[in-house]
Amino acid sequence: VLPDQLPLTLGHEFAGHVVAIGDGVEGLTVGDAVAVEPEMRDNTCDECQKGHYNLCTNLRILGVMADGGGLAEYAVVPAYTIHRLPQGISTDIGALIEPIAVGWHAVRRAQARLGQTALVVGAGPIGLVTLLALKTAGLRWIAVSEVATARKRMAEQLGANVVLDPREVDVIAEVKKLTGGTGVDVAFDAAGFPGSLQTALRALRSNGTVVNIAVPHGPIELSVTDLMAGQKQVTASSAYAGDHPGIIAALVDGRLDPSSLITSRIALEDAVQGGFEELIAHADQQVKILIHP
Ligand SMILES: [Zn+2]
Repeated sequence: VLPDQLPLTLGHEFAGHVVAIGDGVEGLTVGDAVAVEPEMRDNTCDECQKGHYNLCTNLRILGVMADGGGLAEYAVVPAYTIHRLPQGISTDIGALIEPIAVGWHAVRRAQARLGQTALVVGAGPIGLVTLLALKTAGLRWIAVSEVATARKRMAEQLGANVVLDPREVDVIAEVKKLTGGTGVDVAFDAAGFPGSLQTALRALRSNGTVVNIAVPHGPIELSVTDLMAGQKQVTASSAYAGDHPGIIAALVDGRLDPSSLITSRIALEDAVQGGFEELIAHADQQVKILIHP
């Protein structure tokens, strides 16, 4: 992930109000509250044509690789990146749609559905949004594996049925026991540590699916014997495509309430100390720090 050019304005999780509209843009009004889906794409390549624009050969994330991110009073974005927020959905919540979409897409990749069971390995921001997406999808039982106290508490607060600490219990054995010996239908590696994908794989039932959503620090060991024996599937999820409308619908009808992900609110001028440095120093206690320009 390399920026097109430096310096660039950071911020890929953002929402705001429309102040000006370009020529030929329809369906927007000045004053509309909107969330930005920051995947800048060509809209013409094979993957874009199929709707898999997260896999666009020319994908650039606004505020990461492409200049013009959300840490500013104003941002200019292509109209196709805009999602209008219905009445009652604040821009604070709108700014959470991007991170939620990462978990939402992973849950769709797993084809997780009503009544199933799941394990999420890791309760950092990505693990937590995956948990939220699984709750919204109506899974009946969700286990989370995590070591940090504050994150364990947050996972419980967001509705995990059980939070397991791998330093205290054998996560695989415990998940098997709590699912009547079968293992979970779907599992997610949101940790990316050596062994976490393997834990997710072994906690699965036969024919189950494990989705990698972590960015691991190096090669990951995985037992093909475990994969083969239960005829399991390992897949991956990268960012999101076509997920924002479903999330907005769930926010509107109340199935999804992500407000507790916001652990702090600061002004743009405090972004370095109260935002970046705070996240580095207290990564286990902060989830999303909202910055108001
Ligand atoms: Zn494309």
